[in-house]
Amino acid sequence: MIENLTKLLPQEEPKYENPLDKEYVLRINHLKTYYFTSRGAVKAVDDVTVWLKRGESLGLAGESGCGKTTLASSILNMITPPGRVVSGEVWVDGIDVTKLREEELRREVRWKKVSMVFQGSMNALNPVYRVGFQMAEPLMYHYGIEQEDALEVVKKYLELVGLSPAVAERYPHELSGGMKQRVVIAMALILNPPLIIADEPTTALDVVVQAQIMNLLKRIKNETKKSFIFITHDLSILSEVSDNVLVMYGGKMVEWGTGDDIYLNPQHPYTQKLISAIPRVHVDVDHLEYIPGVPPDLISPPSGCRFHPRCPYAMEKCKHEEPPIFRVGKKHFVACWLYEKEGERVADLQKLLEEEGL
Ligand code: SF4
Repeated sequence: MIENLTKLLPQEEPKYENPLDKEYVLRINHLKTYYFTSRGAVKAVDDVTVWLKRGESLGLAGESGCGKTTLASSILNMITPPGRVVSGEVWVDGIDVTKLREEELRREVRWKKVSMVFQGSMNALNPVYRVGFQMAEPLMYHYGIEQEDALEVVKKYLELVGLSPAVAERYPHELSGGMKQRVVIAMALILNPPLIIADEPTTALDVVVQAQIMNLLKRIKNETKKSFIFITHDLSILSEVSDNVLVMYGGKMVEWGTGDDIYLNPQHPYTQKLISAIPRVHVDVDHLEYIPGVPPDLISPPSGCRFHPRCPYAMEKCKHEEPPIFRVGKKHFVACWLYEKEGERVADLQKLLEEEGL
């Protein structure tokens, strides 16, 4: 159905200078994004490299404050002061967004190349405009489509997300939380971007509506050739929708692999703890697992491995030396000293990806 919808928009044949961009919708290389405060720099994303193939999905996992949302905002180059991208590259559909000015980002990248369903974004709808007009606006702004024609496109997208076309005539306060979230998802799709980021898309919804929204996202992902990034602290949700999972801790990547690698064979002690903390409905448990301690202060993070104060396997070396990335499977990487012997040390993940195209 979405293929038919995209034909409603003017078609542009993308041209890629780097052949890698034909295969990868997103290439993040050695990204550092910091927030500069009077106490010092908060290293929210600190040297993260991750790539995403077209049509695949990536789940970002980790506790609150681990850098997931900052990483996602960096993809749109939408970091608010006092934060900024300090170094690194973010290639989205063949464009390095870190090099663009605000006006270029608005015209060329946001919503056209990558769109975002924000945390609690159902509150982002403007209360004084009808839903249809708010959805039609990007079509009018980016493609110069007449309002009447844009509204026809809007109605088709409302149907795609399971809403009646009549919703276009309503104001946001006339919709339930779940309906508003569907509207926001339809808005994220309307300019046909190759990449969509869903940041905690089910926050503030009750569990039944949460399941409906996740099923909707799963259906859209399966029906389209779009790439998705799902952000949540709930690994059980990611397991259903993500082909690949990146686990972050204290602004660093600690493990990256396919969904099966992460769920069936987690290697990093932090990932293992996160997975064991998922409550299981059909298993009798005496107590719920949790990760003792608190996430690190990112102004002055712990020396060595940032997880060492909370890690049950911490060794002396972990306190002083930052663990490099070790390869423990074809596309399975882990930053932990436990794999020094059996893993293959990766000197530069970007280079390895360029050579092997994983
Ligand atoms: Fe634990 Fe050491 Fe591995 Fe860090 S490097 S996760 S402290 S074993």
